[in-house]
Amino acid sequence: METVKEYFGSKVFDDRVMKAMLPAKVYASLRETIDEGKPLDAGVAGAVAAAMRDWAVSKGATHYTHWFQPLTGITAEKHDGFISPAPDGGVIMEFSGKELIKGEPDASSFPSGGLRATFEARGYTAWDPTSYAFIKGKTLCIPTAFCAYGGAALDKKTPLLRSMEALSKQALRILKLFGNTSAKRVVTNVGPEQEYFLIDKKLYDQRLDLRLTGRTLFGAPAPKGQEMDDHYFGVIKPRVAAFMEELNDELWKLGVLAKTEHNEVAPAQHELAPIYSTVNVATDHNQLTMEIMQKVAAKHGLVCLLHEKPFAGVNGSGKHNNWSMATDAGQNLLSPGETPYENAQFLLFLCAVIKAVDDYQDLLRISVATAGNDHRLGANEAPPAVVSIFLGDELTAVLEAIETDTPYKGTEKTQMKLGVDVLPKFNRDSTDRNRTSPFAFTGNKFEFRMLGSSNSIACANIMLNSAVAESLRIYADRLEGAEDFETALHEMIKKTIKDHKRILFNGNGYDDAWLAEAEKRGLTNYRTTADCMPHLLDKKNADMLTGLGVFRPEELTSRCEIMLENYCKTILIEARTMVTMAKTQIAPAVEGFTADVALNAARKKTFGEAISCRYETALVSKLSALTDEIAKKTEALEKAVSAAAAVPDVIEQSAGIRDTVLPAMEDLRADCDEAETLTEKKRWPFPNYAELLFGV
Ligand code: ADP
Ligand code: MG
Repeated sequence: METVKEYFGSKVFDDRVMKAMLPAKVYASLRETIDEGKPLDAGVAGAVAAAMRDWAVSKGATHYTHWFQPLTGITAEKHDGFISPAPDGGVIMEFSGKELIKGEPDASSFPSGGLRATFEARGYTAWDPTSYAFIKGKTLCIPTAFCAYGGAALDKKTPLLRSMEALSKQALRILKLFGNTSAKRVVTNVGPEQEYFLIDKKLYDQRLDLRLTGRTLFGAPAPKGQEMDDHYFGVIKPRVAAFMEELNDELWKLGVLAKTEHNEVAPAQHELAPIYSTVNVATDHNQLTMEIMQKVAAKHGLVCLLHEKPFAGVNGSGKHNNWSMATDAGQNLLSPGETPYENAQFLLFLCAVIKAVDDYQDLLRISVATAGNDHRLGANEAPPAVVSIFLGDELTAVLEAIETDTPYKGTEKTQMKLGVDVLPKFNRDSTDRNRTSPFAFTGNKFEFRMLGSSNSIACANIMLNSAVAESLRIYADRLEGAEDFETALHEMIKKTIKDHKRILFNGNGYDDAWLAEAEKRGLTNYRTTADCMPHLLDKKNADMLTGLGVFRPEELTSRCEIMLENYCKTILIEARTMVTMAKTQIAPAVEGFTADVALNAARKKTFGEAISCRYETALVSKLSALTDEIAKKTEALEKAVSAAAAVPDVIEQSAGIRDTVLPAMEDLRADCDEAETLTEKKRWPFPNYAELLFGV
């Protein structure tokens, strides 16, 4: 049997393959593009394409596709065969440099938010050599960016690459000031921890809500939930273990560094964490991971739910985006150093993040905003919708000492003078974790915990990279012109702490008292996607994002529109699904059971007036009242949906949906869930929470 070491990356056109198959000159040139972001040498593409084709065909591939990430949030692919007719009646396998570099999928059905009028529907895909090509099934997949013919980005990869560029450029300016002239590039590294649910496919198939919306729209709580805390890190059941084993194998073949797996807090909930990689690759790999999870689950008679809140009253699923910056030489810029100078540099990068998160709280919130994630944020299982930073007591004390020019308690020195004094060693104990913080410093990286489980991590990292690049830009402008570097540096760090300490919070983020405190501090608290998304276009945000070249103004408008449209469509589909289920499944089931009970009572009465039928009478009146309510509330929801669907302006529509459709959905659900608790189990038209959550 092949060992992991032997088959890891076997489906990837990675460095090992490139080195072995490409002419030395071509390889060197491609490496420069990958490592240093240099523009691709046009002559190189043909040779790379030929090698890719030979390699892919030898692995059994028959097709190739430009693999891209349109704004729908999932990946897209259109397969083309390698075959080309040969004069002798046979075929040859062809793949040119041109086909590698550029593709023209018919892109008219992808959302563009008005960027691409239908008459110029064509978009094109462009090879991203920084993410390795790979084989999925019998298809060679080439990671690509997706743009409209005026160059406007229609995907998530393009702005992500631009944000990496922006951050690298500004970070290099800072490094130079600290005497580092050898660094060629600064990259952001990301390790996304992915949560998901696994449920039995046979049960899933019986629920229209799961099939159409990915979450349960009805369901009374199961008698047992997560209160025993017996699932987190618990023993993994054999069926789940078999799934995880195959998932790992598939991911490893694709070069995904799947590393850690365990049960999560909720029953049926699990997590997978990879080893971190460059954010661009981490993003592609996370998209692949989500796709492979679903495929492998199907093979095991399971369904993998990636929705943020599949079950009400049970913890939802998120994604933890572990983020850091490093030089091409591998120096982690968020790691406290050994020397005073390194420490000063660390503190400056740390401050850049603090300033970025405070200045652009709204953008971070926006970057994780979806209808699904709205159910999770602030529901006492995930961070609130308020963005804040956890630094831990020790680092906070250091910053306070710097701000106030007072001695830090751990040192003998009179005060912390940057660039002179050695910082104390920070405690990196992993028990010192605050799991309620949306943005926590964990020793040498930040963990952004607000992402939803189905989100592409591109959005969060675009905003994070950009906001930090902006802080660094401002710092570099100031420091490059300073007469005395060290004094200017010290003053700037002090000023950052003073101006932005409101964003620092080490306490319990789930506590209501924090929400009140956050409001006092002037932090934003956007509860829903409808609340936050329009702020993407606020002048401050648009100026920053366009100033750094991460977005064009029209790209921002289009994204805002697409995200809001997506929010509206998602909720309207959910509402319509509820109406269908209430009318055709729930009401008839309750009614049928009520009729049976009533009939029983009538039958029992024939045995004499002395038979009270109190049980039946009470139950029948309760159930009849509920059926009436269900009918009334179904009608109210239908009306709310029609009214909302007719609103032409998407910002107005999203607000209407938030204010009328969502509450009407909750109302209807409450009565249906109550009816479920009173109705005979075998009459209930679909599997209940206990079956779904404990059915594997
Ligand atoms: P936990 O948060 O569960 O204690 P770890 O801190 O070991 O686990 O790692 C969580 C994730 O963070 C993993 O994906 C890991 O690869 C990633 N990670 C570790 N170091 C860094 C770093 N410097 N930059 C980005 N991600 C990192
Ligand atoms: Mg973690």
